[in-house]
Amino acid sequence: MRSITILGATGSIGLSTLDVIRRHPGRFSVYALTAATKAKELADLCREFRPKVAVMSDASAAQELAGLLSDCPDIQILEGDRGLSAVAAAGEACTVMAAIVGAAGLAPTLAAVRAGKRVLLANKEALVMSGRLFMDAVSDSGAELLPIDSEHNAIFQCMPADKIRDPAAAGITRILLTASGGPFRTLAAEELRTVTPEQACAHPNWSMGQKISVDSATLMNKGLELIEACWLFNTTPDRVEVHVHPESIIHSMVEYADGSVLAQLGSPDMRTPIANGLAWPERIEAGVAPLDLFAIGKFHFERPDLQRFPCLRLAADAFASGGTAPAVLNAANEEAVAAFLDGRLCFADIPVIIERTLAATPVVTATDFETIFAKDAEARDCAREQIRLLAV
Ligand code: NAD
Ligand code: MG
Repeated sequence: MRSITILGATGSIGLSTLDVIRRHPGRFSVYALTAATKAKELADLCREFRPKVAVMSDASAAQELAGLLSDCPDIQILEGDRGLSAVAAAGEACTVMAAIVGAAGLAPTLAAVRAGKRVLLANKEALVMSGRLFMDAVSDSGAELLPIDSEHNAIFQCMPADKIRDPAAAGITRILLTASGGPFRTLAAEELRTVTPEQACAHPNWSMGQKISVDSATLMNKGLELIEACWLFNTTPDRVEVHVHPESIIHSMVEYADGSVLAQLGSPDMRTPIANGLAWPERIEAGVAPLDLFAIGKFHFERPDLQRFPCLRLAADAFASGGTAPAVLNAANEEAVAAFLDGRLCFADIPVIIERTLAATPVVTATDFETIFAKDAEARDCAREQIRLLAV
């Protein structure tokens, strides 16, 4: 039995993970489930999966959960950041699904890494923010880091397992990172000024949480994924080329020196990469619809348009600047996306806020995690001010 902690159990990735686990009762057990504020949802999941521990990061939600589970004294309830990091590092769990959205996931994901767990990384923002420090923590502890982001899981599947951090030694020349292009792929620049949060969150191929849906619509998601790919596969942006592929059937490709290009294909359903990470190196059933290539018929490819979607360029530039720049990029993006989702910022101004925040926040060397967290806070203050100025 593989015992699992799910950080972010009530989210899109968390629920998909539990769906795969539900299909294999003899194979996986749940050690801990965590959520931010949705006590009722977490209580229902606790009744079904019977974890030893449940964590609410929000203290009042933890009290509500305790009330809802008063008849389940065998489930221990913890709260706050300390509760999250405690279950991520606990000896009873061998695998941790890191599926909290945004910078809030960094501390507990790092706790799992430092405890040497198998870490299934969905929370790309944690790696983008802390890059080298995060990867060094993985090597120091011997943690087993497996990518869950569909593109990175596809790349991982197309590489020899022992050469993940040394693609050149495997004869790999390029990574072809696919992108759906998002819901606004064909809109003109002027039309991007009036799109609504509902339109941005209605992704054509994937059902996901709100933040990543907006990131997919701005192409910031691909920018974060470019940085994620460079760290995971120890490569450089000139060896990663983004291919817009609107069908979202090829999840990414790896090119070899002999001209071979290996691709991983499948229905756009996150249960495939999640099952791959949970059972790796074995393969298990994931509940995913079989691929019907006759029904799909054709695949299309385009170059990304960096004029209409400048977030991809901003991310590449931040990675090139190095140090704390990717943490600033990420923090500014999180603030801008939150402002867009609650009607304080227009969609087309998301990259404006990020660019201004990057320009106003000096880059320093990322020597430790404290420096990263401090820059994250500084960038958020700056981005909020820029959002306020743009609104008046
Ligand atoms: P979501 O919004 O659906 O779920 C987020 C989860 O994190 C929830 O359980 C929520 O309670 C928890 N959470 C939110 N804020 C928190 C906080 N401050 N402290 C503690 N917990 C908090 O998000 P999602 O779509 O499942 O995405 C999760 C992560 O996976 C993101 O980093 C995203 O980029 C990545 N990812 C998602 C998909 C997808 O298909 N949804 C695909 C690839 C990668
Ligand atoms: Mg992805």
